[in-house]
Parts: sequence; C-alpha cells; structure tokens
Amino acid sequence: MPNMLVELYEGKQKAGTFEVNVEAQPTTVVVDPSQNEIFLKWDSTLDDSKRIRGCIVCGGDLYKEQMFPQVTGIVIVLAFAGAVAGILGLVTTWVMLIAMSVVLILDILILFVVKTRLSCYACNAQFSQTTIAQYHKQWDPDKAAQLKRLSEEPDSKVH
Ligand SMILES: [Zn+2]
Repeated sequence: MPNMLVELYEGKQKAGTFEVNVEAQPTTVVVDPSQNEIFLKWDSTLDDSKRIRGCIVCGGDLYKEQMFPQVTGIVIVLAFAGAVAGILGLVTTWVMLIAMSVVLILDILILFVVKTRLSCYACNAQFSQTTIAQYHKQWDPDKAAQLKRLSEEPDSKVH
C-alpha cells in the first residue's frame, strides 16, 4: 500500500505536504518544505480496516471530495462551443457528430481518472492516495457551520 499523501492548508494557501504510512502510525512526521515536525493523532482516527476516519493532524471530522482533472473544464467549453456552432449552423452535421463523439470519449476517459480525497472540516488538511471508506459523506454546509460555531465559541468568551 502506498503512503498516504497529506496536504496541509492555511486558508486556501497550501502550507506543506507529507507522506505517512498508515500501517506504521508514526507519532511525528516532517512537513515539506518547512521541515517542521508535527505530531499525528492516531487515537480514534483510524477504523478497524486501517482507513482514516478522522483527521490525523487535528482530530477533526472529514468529508469526501471528488478531484476532477483540469481537462473537465476544457471539455465543457468544447461541448458548449460545439453545441453553439451546431445551432448556428456554422458546422456541418458530420463535423458536429465527430466533434461530439470526441467530447464524449474525453468525458468517459475523465470518469476513470477522477479521484476521491478526504478533507478536514477543521484544519482543511487533505488526504489522498489512501483507501476511502464508504461511510464518508460529501461536504455538508450545515455541519461546516455547526463546527465553525463550535470553534469560534471559546474565542467569543475571551473577548
Ligand atoms: Zn484537521
């Protein structure tokens, strides 16, 4: 099994990456490129099948995300352009049919390269190259709002 790839984020900015062997459960890892050492949380973040259930960086809840490759955007633009050209009668039916089949084939190919990753609600860390358990859900705005309130509560008491 390859090492799980973890990407750390500060807001939208990528803050670092590290690879970790889930089987070995090392206590600390060194983050690239900062070379900072961070402690990992393995308590209750792995399920019985050694798949991650919670965030090993902060212990937070995870959600599932589909990673679409860059090409998807191009295919959508191509399909749209094709449809518009067809409607306007700029291209003959034959060209149109060929173009649409190419787009369709590209689309099908993309379906095979779409990967799923897990992200953390709390610290935005992203986990890929790992087995993703079926019970993980897509991003839930209600849950995100609820967790955000929880994380902001201690702060509001301080001020
Ligand atoms: Zn986290």
